[in-house]
Amino acid sequence: MRITVLGGGPGGYVAALKAAQLGAQVTVVEKAEVGGTCLNWGCIPTKTLIASADALRLATNLADYGIDLNGSVSPNFTKIMERKDKVVSIQVRGIRSLFKSWGITLVEGRGTFVSPTGIEVEKTDGTKEKVETDKVIIATGSRPADISSFPFDGEKIISSNDAVILAAIPKSLLIIGAGVIGSEFACLFNDFGTDVTVVEMLPRPLATEDIEVSEQLGREFRKKKIKLLTGLGVTKVESAPDGMHAFLSDGKEIIAEKVLVAVGRSLNSAGLGLEKIGVETASNGRIPVNEKMETNVAGIYAVGDVVGGMLLAHKASAEGIVAALNACGKATVMDYSVVPAAIFTSPEIGSVGLREQEAAEKGMNIRTGRFFFRGLGKAHAMGEISGFFKIIADAVSDRILGAHIMGPHASDLIHEVAVAMRAGLKAADIAGTIHAHPTLSEGILEASEDVHGEAIHLPKK
Ligand SMILES: Cc1cc2nc3c(=O)[nH]c(=O)nc-3n(C[C@H](O)[C@H](O)[C@H](O)COP(=O)(O)OP(=O)(O)OC[C@H]3O[C@@H](n4cnc5c(N)ncnc54)[C@H](O)[C@@H]3O)c2cc1C
Repeated sequence: MRITVLGGGPGGYVAALKAAQLGAQVTVVEKAEVGGTCLNWGCIPTKTLIASADALRLATNLADYGIDLNGSVSPNFTKIMERKDKVVSIQVRGIRSLFKSWGITLVEGRGTFVSPTGIEVEKTDGTKEKVETDKVIIATGSRPADISSFPFDGEKIISSNDAVILAAIPKSLLIIGAGVIGSEFACLFNDFGTDVTVVEMLPRPLATEDIEVSEQLGREFRKKKIKLLTGLGVTKVESAPDGMHAFLSDGKEIIAEKVLVAVGRSLNSAGLGLEKIGVETASNGRIPVNEKMETNVAGIYAVGDVVGGMLLAHKASAEGIVAALNACGKATVMDYSVVPAAIFTSPEIGSVGLREQEAAEKGMNIRTGRFFFRGLGKAHAMGEISGFFKIIADAVSDRILGAHIMGPHASDLIHEVAVAMRAGLKAADIAGTIHAHPTLSEGILEASEDVHGEAIHLPKK
């Protein structure tokens, strides 16, 4: 079985490895670099920069830990960027060596369908190569969406791609959009000393997250002196000698050195020759697929950002595995019932499943349990006491329906609840599990106990 994967991001490269492990003869066509957006422009560069910002914050607060600093602390942005490039290149090399070890052929260039079983690759040196195949997995991902009235110029009006290769820390930054990407960059640059303003059309930052998480993030922004303007749009941006002038829908004007547009992602389905082979696309560029991740054309699968839904690396990889299994004849359906998400603001956010407002909209009968990081000895020991745990369970069956954690290591902590949800466990099951002390996981235990009003370390209600 010959399988060709178009795009080497977390959707494509994971699909390729899975298919190779199942014995297929696999070719990956990639026009830029393996690892895709996630590894080269998204998850890994941003989290590496955030690690430097965290180190800076810790160093600035060393006195709180009883440590005298005889000298000054300041970010060296050139070295921070070099470290980021090094981390990215280690990951890229890792994928390339996995490809080698599993006998996957990497063809570097831009691929276009010429038939359902033929892909023409235009290589970087201008030459063309035809790849013949039996099945194809499309994993071409997405790119930053711009605003047509003030498009990216890479210098003053920048995308998230430009933001991870900046030459210097901007003195001031206007971020349009307080979604995941905008909010992460707001915290990151605030830590580096940039004067950050965030403008968001919706009434809250991270508006699709649980309402308590999103409201708490608004408070954290205020504590950090990040200016957050909600319910407003940016109508015009003009360049002037003193900086970029952004005009808001309420008539206000903001001046900043740079404007980061973080208003969403455009899906990469145009220019692939899909119309030639009859693969349907939706009006927003999304490629519709069935539960086997197969498009309307048999033998052509699509995974990752390009199929829409949650634009997350691990969701792309999970879909890649399902597509590879089906392409190799192992019938499998994609299960989206438990997809945890991590947001690397400061503090971090981890979430899975139902949001409380969703339960209210659907008229669901739920119980919630809460606990706070400030109630944990470990959080005090770490000097990080902001944030909370929230568990949502069905009021009748006690089955866990969702969890939202905001605080240190929330992105790791959330997985205890994700596994419990996947196993169909009840809040009482977590509450009945001994948790090691002193750990942050004790917050999940206490929040689960609180679902039944039985948290040991909460005062009588
Ligand atoms: C700033 C930022 C931070 C993020 N942080 C996180 C995070 O912390 N956690 C998380 O889960 N997600 C995060 N994401 C989202 C994550 O990066 C994406 O969901 C993920 O990369 C999608 O994977 P994919 O394989 O579908 O597409 P992509 O990663 O976009 O990969 C698609 C690949 O296809 C290639 N390609 C496109 N067209 C062609 C063609 N015609 N021929 C050959 N190759 C082609 C592209 O060059 C690219 O390498 C972040 C995104 C951004 C922008």
